[in-house]
Amino acid sequence: MSNHELKFLKDKIEKLKQDGVYRELPINYGPCDNVINLNGKEVVNLSSNNYLGLANHPRVKQAAIDAVKKYGAGAGAVRTIVGNQDIIGELEDILAKFKHEEAVMCFQSGLNCNIGTISAITEKGDLIISDELNHASIIDGVRLSRADKAIFKHSDMENLEQILIEKRDKYNQVLIITDGVFSMDGDLAKLPEIVNLAEKYNALTYVDDAHGSGVLGESGRGTVDHFKLHGRVDFIMGTLSKAIGVVGGYIASKKETKIWLSHRARPLLFSTALPPAATAAAIESVKMLMESEEYSKKLWDNANYFKEKLAKLGFDTGHSETPITPVMIGNEAKTMEFSKALLNAGVYVSGIVFPTVPMGKGRLRCMISASHTIKDLDFALDKFETVGKELGLI
Ligand SMILES: *Cc1c(COP(=O)(O)O)cnc(C)c1O
Repeated sequence: MSNHELKFLKDKIEKLKQDGVYRELPINYGPCDNVINLNGKEVVNLSSNNYLGLANHPRVKQAAIDAVKKYGAGAGAVRTIVGNQDIIGELEDILAKFKHEEAVMCFQSGLNCNIGTISAITEKGDLIISDELNHASIIDGVRLSRADKAIFKHSDMENLEQILIEKRDKYNQVLIITDGVFSMDGDLAKLPEIVNLAEKYNALTYVDDAHGSGVLGESGRGTVDHFKLHGRVDFIMGTLSKAIGVVGGYIASKKETKIWLSHRARPLLFSTALPPAATAAAIESVKMLMESEEYSKKLWDNANYFKEKLAKLGFDTGHSETPITPVMIGNEAKTMEFSKALLNAGVYVSGIVFPTVPMGKGRLRCMISASHTIKDLDFALDKFETVGKELGLI
């Protein structure tokens, strides 16, 4: 057999199939919204991060169209060459205002932002201390950094302090990194305690607020605002891909962070800038958040409604503090069976199993959005009830 057959990949794919974890990517034949056409079937969408329904909002779409007319389809180069179009600066200024921070640096995605920033702000002789449930893009950023790393048990402040006591004096800078909202359970980081410990032991703090921005705090300013910690978290990361409804990531911090990243963050130096459509659409979304709390209020009303009704039906919705609504099932096969049966009934909600969550902690993760109508939610609840009873879950 010729080497071009890529037999080594065929073998690995065969193994995926044997292990029962092989999957095909579902196809959405239209915009991301409350109801979608998934693989040719109309379903209520409980699986997107489009928290505020802005991904398909007429104002946001129009901003993208106008920007394409004025600025074209692509930025044309990395930002350090000619890709730094003025609207990117406009987006950074409005985000800085929104987050109440001195300066913002934007990246092409949240993943790029974490990878590029963490590896740029740390070096050999530093220590990164990271929550064990932090997002994969943080893990990758830490891997690319030349700093040493230590992992603390999820939200375990005693464990975090123990690490600080043991290791603080052996390093130059120590950076504590945590998600603001943990995406699989919907719980919040113990940010006030983390910040206190950081200040006590002279460490820096970095919060990934991908699921907090647009959701928590005044007008969706995020977890730092929710906990009233302005000025006490050194690096606040957010995405433009979730509540903002477009794509991109950013760091809100001091001016010096922005300057340093423009010299050292590799996604800025070696990857083409955000396209004009995305940049302008994100500006419009942020403006809408700053103008009115209508969208975040609707999101929370919907989420509270859905959670309450699910609990009344007898489902265990875990300990979420946000619109992320897990329905705890446990067994992996049962979780996937439930997800599949719901899809057949017209409700798309992804099953989350090992290795994304620990073995035996399988769950369906319902992502509620401001775009859902009560009719959508009632339809979904009705299917949860019938399918849940059929499978003996309630
Ligand atoms: C989604 C997510 C990211 C990545 O953001 P993208 O903009 O989609 O690349 C980073 N961190 C966390 C915690 C996330 O949930």
